[in-house]
Amino acid sequence: MGLVEGKSGIVTGAAGGIGRATAILFAKEGASVIVSDLEACRAAAEETVALANAAGGGKAVFVAADVAKAADAEMLVNECVSRFGRLDYAFNNAGILAVGFTSQVEEDEFDRIMEVDVKGVWLCMKYQLRQMMKNGGGVIINTSSEGGLVGTPLAGPYVAAKHAVIGLTKTAAGEYANMNIRVNSVAPGTIATPMVLSLPKEAQEMLMAPQPLHRLGNPEEVAEGVVWLASDRASFITGITLSIDGGATSN
Ligand code: NAD
Repeated sequence: MGLVEGKSGIVTGAAGGIGRATAILFAKEGASVIVSDLEACRAAAEETVALANAAGGGKAVFVAADVAKAADAEMLVNECVSRFGRLDYAFNNAGILAVGFTSQVEEDEFDRIMEVDVKGVWLCMKYQLRQMMKNGGGVIINTSSEGGLVGTPLAGPYVAAKHAVIGLTKTAAGEYANMNIRVNSVAPGTIATPMVLSLPKEAQEMLMAPQPLHRLGNPEEVAEGVVWLASDRASFITGITLSIDGGATSN
């Protein structure tokens, strides 16, 4: 029996990287999954769906959504309920990065980071929580970052956004615990995904430097933590930030 057998939920930002690996693992461990990403990423997201369905266990389908739009965040929940009957878990993982010194980042870049990485997570949580209250429970996992715990050079707005994700997570964990809803976040270190692999090699080295396990992490290693947090094995865990960062924040 899979770790999340019979459950159904949503993974955002699932066209590639951490989202794809997690959607595949949810399916492999027996859960049905709404694989979501921007319409512009449909082809890559459909690949995730094919890989998830091939992994056996639960069923995967693609639903396009922009997490920064309230109507899309609400629609994702409705799609999950209409296709699979309920919403047991959600992995709010869609995110974007902007690189630059604090004195040089443009205002519109700052605004866009806040819109996707903070407002997007909050909007998704808002509608997921409403549905989970009707369900009688559920689990939410948000993607923060090592940068949600410590400062990271050249990523000021992103670091601010990922700190905010932890704040939203802890607050909701306290607010909804008595409704049988657990809310946690994961804080990946430097992981080999399109977001990181698109950076110059020197930047990747700089990001990896604080990790005692000196290598890039794999998206699959993050997925393991997420699916475990979503499972009943983690039933007494809420409000935490699980670092999956090769030890980067251990000192
Ligand atoms: P990625 O770029 O492969 O995945 C991010 C996904 O989010 C993309 O598929 C993108 O299309 C989607 N997305 C962007 N804006 C969206 C929007 N408005 N609505 C819906 N989807 C949207 O990179 P990744 O590394 O897999 O990133 C996943 C998450 O992990 C992000 O939140 C990122 O900040 C976080 N993270 C990544 C690392 C890393 O080292 N890769 C480290 C810490 C945290």
